Amino acid sequence: MNNNAQVLSDLLGDRRYTWLITGVAGFIGSNLLESLLRHDQTVIGLDDFSTGKQCNLDQVRESVTAAQWERLRFITGDICDIQVCREASTGADFLLHHAALGSVPLSLEDPVRTNASNISGFVNLLVAARDAGVKRVIYAASSATYGDDPTLPKQEDKIGRMLSPYALTKYVNELYADVFGRCYAMECIGLRYFNIFGPRQDPNGAYAAVIPQWISAMIRGDNVYINGDGATTRDFCYIRNVVQANVLAALTSNQGAVGTVYNIGLGERISLNSLYTEIKRLLEPRFSQLKHHQPIYRPFRQGDVRHSVADIQRARTLLEFRPLYDLRTGLVEALDWYVSSLMPNR
Ligand code: NAD
Repeated sequence: MNNNAQVLSDLLGDRRYTWLITGVAGFIGSNLLESLLRHDQTVIGLDDFSTGKQCNLDQVRESVTAAQWERLRFITGDICDIQVCREASTGADFLLHHAALGSVPLSLEDPVRTNASNISGFVNLLVAARDAGVKRVIYAASSATYGDDPTLPKQEDKIGRMLSPYALTKYVNELYADVFGRCYAMECIGLRYFNIFGPRQDPNGAYAAVIPQWISAMIRGDNVYINGDGATTRDFCYIRNVVQANVLAALTSNQGAVGTVYNIGLGERISLNSLYTEIKRLLEPRFSQLKHHQPIYRPFRQGDVRHSVADIQRARTLLEFRPLYDLRTGLVEALDWYVSSLMPNR
């Protein structure tokens, strides 16, 4: 058992809960699903496959026992439909809300659709969870909410102006969670994710995140594009740390930890140039053609912040969050997954 699995075992013990995971066919949702099923938890999974994939669910099925897979009840549906949310919430102890349109560029192109999924869908789920007596709601917030505030590292109480419709929707989620906490005594915790990466994060398409996009381009021998001069920095956090944060937030008995938001990152930043070098260094022993590979620089992308790094002190103190995977350890594990799924014969 790896360290993170041990942490989850210690947290869950013999307790069996029912978890509603929205966005379960996506990157983060499917990793939450896998970890919870492996710990013999019961899961209700909800997804409309707008960006999620059946193959993510298939992979989870292959990685757990038949008995564990039986503990999943999957619902295909849109969180914009409150009846779907009500059906999914029935019998759930905890809601891990991860369904959203998570792309900054998409939100600039289609703010109406982003608003519907990210805000109306969220309110539907809050109402459904409230009426179903769900014990606690953990929802995916975002570091995009820091907007144009230049302070580093990012601390939860100081945000700037939003730089995209996506960022705004995530901030509105926080405001709604706060109001539902006060008006209906609901227990809500927001996790402001920084740049999360790991297996099953989609490498394809116009809105792909940088790590899977670059890994996939490098192993295929394609071009790698860096938006801007490469001095842009980010706090990249491995998915297993995120799974830990969700379970900690759901199970904490510290009432002082409820009703707020937490930065979930590694607490370290790296420039895009250094990230490129690190990925290339890790891949080069397996793909010798990368020796002469160079990135191509192109203009900065609208809506992107220049620097970002989390102060994770609040999560450390109140949730006892301990990210066990640093960037390199996470990259090594993720690279193995990308190589075996994109190049099955290597
Ligand atoms: P993803 O696109 O892989 O997963 C999102 C899932 O939600 C998909 O499976 C999609 O089909 C589903 N979905 C979208 N709209 C839906 C709707 N209306 N009804 C039902 N299902 C719907 O993205 P992800 O990276 O796994 O992100 C999960 C959450 O974490 C999102 O809320 C995202 O905003 C947030 N987040 C992610 C990151 C990151 O670095 N990946 C950073 C900050 C915040």
